[in-house]
Amino acid sequence: MKICRSIQSLHTELPAQAGKTTGFVPTMGFLHQGHLSLVRRCREENDLTVVSIFVNPAQFGPAEDLQQYPRDPEKDIALLEKENTDILFMPENDEMYQQPFRTYINVEGLDKMLCGQTRPGHFRGVATVVLKLFNLVCPARAYFGQKDAQQAIVIRQMIRDLHLPVQIRILAIVRDSDGLALSSRNVYLSPAERQAALSLPKSLQKAAVLVSSGVEESQVIRESMQKELDRDPLLATEYISIVNLQDLQEIPVIEAGNTLIAAAVRAGRTRLIDNLLLGDLSC
Ligand code: AMP
Repeated sequence: MKICRSIQSLHTELPAQAGKTTGFVPTMGFLHQGHLSLVRRCREENDLTVVSIFVNPAQFGPAEDLQQYPRDPEKDIALLEKENTDILFMPENDEMYQQPFRTYINVEGLDKMLCGQTRPGHFRGVATVVLKLFNLVCPARAYFGQKDAQQAIVIRQMIRDLHLPVQIRILAIVRDSDGLALSSRNVYLSPAERQAALSLPKSLQKAAVLVSSGVEESQVIRESMQKELDRDPLLATEYISIVNLQDLQEIPVIEAGNTLIAAAVRAGRTRLIDNLLLGDLSC
């Protein structure tokens, strides 16, 4: 695996691979099996697999966990070597955001819904860094997780709006054996919070059971989820949203093939998200 720690180094490496179909997996590192599932699919579908690790300051709010965000580059490198990654791009902040930096991507409307309500500027930071990375790596396909479904929808919209020559693949959520969605931030959880956090996937399982038994009213599904989340005093619900996949507007009745049921909770100081997707986000 070639490790490129600068844009110059990536620019030297990529032309050597000309003619190959490039697949790209952007990450913030502290890799787990969810990330590696994207790398594996990327390997299967492309001649060249490029992974990036960059903890993007532009997507963290001033009161968020940029400084504490878990990092373990040596372990990440070993994991990616094992997956036969071709190129790992690990740029520095100063190079990614050379000062003065003035250009941002706003995917209007979508960035205000769901997580955007409590994370103003988050999706602006995400869209900006993803476009920059696409420009640097020039992938034919890029791989994202359904875990961050709103992020996938924002990027899908950006690709359409800006005619970017990239296909995106959105892959299923990888979970621990007890059902908790894998996340780099799970490392923040105390044992008691980790246990409480299980109510989040359980609430979505309840939603899935209701949907498969024919329930369509969002209110009924939301109330059942809320009941599950209220069970544990260590959890505070941030939102439960049942929205369509185009504009992320709340819908009173679920639409088969076009609905996202998403929730965010806080367990202590850790913010966790999870969702149930009734539809397909790849494009
Ligand atoms: P992150 O490093 O958290 O920015 O995540 C990098 C990519 O991995 C994003 O596309 C995430 O949606 C995806 N991802 C994170 N957690 C999971 C998971 N549990 N299962 C599948 N993909 C995931």
